[in-house]
Amino acid sequence: MSGRALVWFRDDLRLSDNPALTAAARDGRPIAALYVLDEATPGLRAIGGAAKWWLHRSLEALSRDLAARGVELIIRIGRSTDVVPAVAKALDVTAVHWNRRVGSTEIKIDTELKALFKARGLEVASHQANLLFEPWTIANKTGGFFKVYTPFARALRALETPRTPLPAPAFTGFETSAAGSVGLSSLSLLPIKPDWSAGIAAAWTVGEAAARVRLELFLDTAIAGYADGRNRPDQVSTSRLSPHLKFGEISPFQVWHAAELRGATGRAPKGDVDKFLAEVLWREFAYHLLHHHPDLATRNFQPRFDEFPWRTDPAALTAWQKGQTGYPIVDAGMRELWTTGWMHNRVRMIVGSFLVKHLLLDWRHGEAWFWDTLVDADPANNTASWQWVAGTGADAAPYFRVFNPILQGEKFDPKGAYVKQWCPELAQLPTTAVHKPWTLAPHEASRFGVRLGVTYPKPIIDHEAGRRRALEAFETLKDGRTAAE
Ligand code: FAD
Repeated sequence: MSGRALVWFRDDLRLSDNPALTAAARDGRPIAALYVLDEATPGLRAIGGAAKWWLHRSLEALSRDLAARGVELIIRIGRSTDVVPAVAKALDVTAVHWNRRVGSTEIKIDTELKALFKARGLEVASHQANLLFEPWTIANKTGGFFKVYTPFARALRALETPRTPLPAPAFTGFETSAAGSVGLSSLSLLPIKPDWSAGIAAAWTVGEAAARVRLELFLDTAIAGYADGRNRPDQVSTSRLSPHLKFGEISPFQVWHAAELRGATGRAPKGDVDKFLAEVLWREFAYHLLHHHPDLATRNFQPRFDEFPWRTDPAALTAWQKGQTGYPIVDAGMRELWTTGWMHNRVRMIVGSFLVKHLLLDWRHGEAWFWDTLVDADPANNTASWQWVAGTGADAAPYFRVFNPILQGEKFDPKGAYVKQWCPELAQLPTTAVHKPWTLAPHEASRFGVRLGVTYPKPIIDHEAGRRRALEAFETLKDGRTAAE
């Protein structure tokens, strides 16, 4: 094999288990590495603020790792269908490789580019890297797509075990100044004026090496007990791999095999490993749904919800966003999100239910806020999860199941440690009142440093009244149900 190859990095910012990189560098062929920030192609969703921060750091880490092997990461801005061919031409490469992604516009771009490179006589190939099972390869018994998680997961578990991860290949670079890299800072991904990223920076270490450390730490300290522990926001009981997976700093194959190995060698209980792998398969399910329902972020999966009587209430939305609803577990979650760019899964479900049911606000407001504030904001997981919480999705929690934020808090944050961490104004409250401070008489509350309506908000809505209002709103849908289903 002769010539030189271009690797186009996208959601796969890693060197190991990167099939596109391995194929490009085959037989010692020199490579060039490209990242394109494409905010110009219609249909591609611009990433949110917190994810931009992560992307900057992740590209920085990838650049470092590539530079250590003599390859410059070329950074360009523009339409992928213009930039990638231009770079390929300027560098006179004979091959172009990338890893596949999901999303109708993304696939359209890749298909167009593949045809173009083929027509130019180049070697061009895409590879499976970011999903264990690509959505278009999985079908149910009638040839359609799965709308329910359990049979989907069962079908995947009956297939061959996902391939073993690839090691990082050896590779060399070549002179790439003709590619016109603009440099990372030109992407303007970091916030300035104001710079709100200090909490996020304190919470995370970004990049492939950090992802590997995070995985090992989880396997060493938290996978044993995960099946129960995963519901406890007051403990570090989940992997926190989501942003690393989102940006492809680690692959699901690496995660899958490392966890399975712990189970197989008896170093982690099988039940805990299985539960963890089941969560990894939720990610696969979300991508399966996104592939078959490309506008998952904007369109109700169940069309009968198109007529749902959502309220308009900007003040309530702001109170929710800022963690000022007067429900401690909700406020703690929203503040954890704002500060660190991440929120525990149990609390994501609680705050989501509160927005959609108690406040009766359209789930798309929540999805958009998460999209902007999560470092792991993911086109499949975020949209599928919001539709799940709202009851509008495939295999969704039924709309009439309204989470009680007080009981959820008492069950999953029994001592109130999570609430006290993120709502320090409640730190002195006794455990009996920490999830319902309004039950204390004012003089009692003030003994613990709390003045409702002054130091901490009164509940924005009474729980029972909110629940009833949500159920009444749902009742209005019933007539439309048969027509839509
Ligand atoms: P772990 O429990 O350690 O799980 C390991 C991995 O499995 C995760 O990193 C993730 O990739 C996957 N996973 C776990 N739970 C789910 C799930 N319910 N759905 C899909 N994949 C899952 N996850 C995102 O990655 N990005 C999002 O934008 C996102 N938005 C969400 C919005 C709402 C309203 C809800 C309820 C959930 C959302 N999730 C999202 C799913 C889940 O909350 C996170 O994946 C999880 O909290 C990440 O923490 P972890 O890595 O410690 O998870």
